[in-house]
Amino acid sequence: MSKSKKLFNDAKKVIPSGVNSPVRYYDPYPFFVKKSQGSHLWDEDNNRLVDFCNGYGALLLGHRRKEIISAVLHQLKNGTLFGTPSSIEIKLSKLIIGNFSSIQKVRLVNTGAEATMTAIRLARGFTKKKKIIKFEGCYHGSYDSVLVKAGSGAAHHGISVSEGGLKEISSNTLVVQYNNSDELEAVIKKHKDIACVIVEPILANMGLILPENNFLKNLRQITKENNTPLIFDEIVTGFRVSPGGAQAYFGIKPDLTTLGKALGNGFTIAAVGGRKDIMDQLTPGGKVYQASTFAGNPVSVSAAISSITTMNKLKNKLYSRLERYCALLARAIDDIATDMKIPHQINFTASMFQIFFTNKPVVNYKSAMKSDSKKFQKLFSALLQKGIFVAPSQFEVVFLSTAHTKSDFNDALDAYQYALKMVKK
Ligand SMILES: *Cc1c(COP(=O)(O)O)cnc(C)c1O
Repeated sequence: MSKSKKLFNDAKKVIPSGVNSPVRYYDPYPFFVKKSQGSHLWDEDNNRLVDFCNGYGALLLGHRRKEIISAVLHQLKNGTLFGTPSSIEIKLSKLIIGNFSSIQKVRLVNTGAEATMTAIRLARGFTKKKKIIKFEGCYHGSYDSVLVKAGSGAAHHGISVSEGGLKEISSNTLVVQYNNSDELEAVIKKHKDIACVIVEPILANMGLILPENNFLKNLRQITKENNTPLIFDEIVTGFRVSPGGAQAYFGIKPDLTTLGKALGNGFTIAAVGGRKDIMDQLTPGGKVYQASTFAGNPVSVSAAISSITTMNKLKNKLYSRLERYCALLARAIDDIATDMKIPHQINFTASMFQIFFTNKPVVNYKSAMKSDSKKFQKLFSALLQKGIFVAPSQFEVVFLSTAHTKSDFNDALDAYQYALKMVKK
């Protein structure tokens, strides 16, 4: 029996389903990781895998990037938690504000869910309104008001509304189709009580779904006309799509922004930032409460400073190189699947892509749900067999990192060729 199998049997006894986040589970059992470096993971059985999951997008600079590790080691010598401010928090905030022109003030938190929860509460406090609008398939964290028609693990495990979640809360969340700004306009006009609109500017939690031509521009215009704060959830896209996220890439200014994942490149940190007049509603200056023991802790802060500094230093090459390799890989996989006559779609942008097994374009939740996810599971298992680890779900995304080499991309392409044959069988 493999060590991973043994560990999984053991894990199930003490951890529900053996995993600490549901997407990590897949049949028959997940591999257990011993260590990581650059673009690679080593499991407990000493197999080396090329990582295309990359901490669900967090590891834009790859595993154990040297600048980040040395910044953290340096910080460890000076302390890990102070419970009172430290100067590096200002340094990080200035870096974030420097990269994101829509952000005038920023508060640091720990996780993405905390960031979006704070952004939504801020919008409610600022507007004195109650309802929020989200889009089908967008994922904003695992709590009641956003776990409605959510993507990621919720879509994968067929949880449209979570048990234990309160209707009294989720009934205040109105859901609109992604890429449908007409529907948004109708819903905003109908309900007078909308506190905010929250959106992933590129939908990266339903597989990968790109915003159509004027979708984001229309969102900005409709929300402006109706005096409704617009929240860009850039937890995946921030720093990944460009140094200033999707908002810089598309040239659109939201009122509030949430960041996470690549912000800490593998360390626990997230942020909510935006217009000064909205951000200043936070306690103690304002009356919107938000607090956390570990927010702005010096270990995560020093990791994030190092991440942003490194990304900014490399930006002229980093983004164009990743975009080029991502497009090459996605187009090559597209060609292989076309030659094999496998009905499929492949969506890609920047350093992310995903394949869907369907003959119709995937532009929203409904069309993503129509793709054959059993075929995707076959693809996933075959890729893994060939040493390529992608997120184990149709409703996640393949993420590239700066640590990937040409030979990693060639290995991936060979593995996709094999895996698509298995899908066809
Ligand atoms: C991952 C993610 C979140 C939640 O972040 P956690 O750190 O897992 O709480 C929120 N929004 C988006 C777009 C995400 O991809």
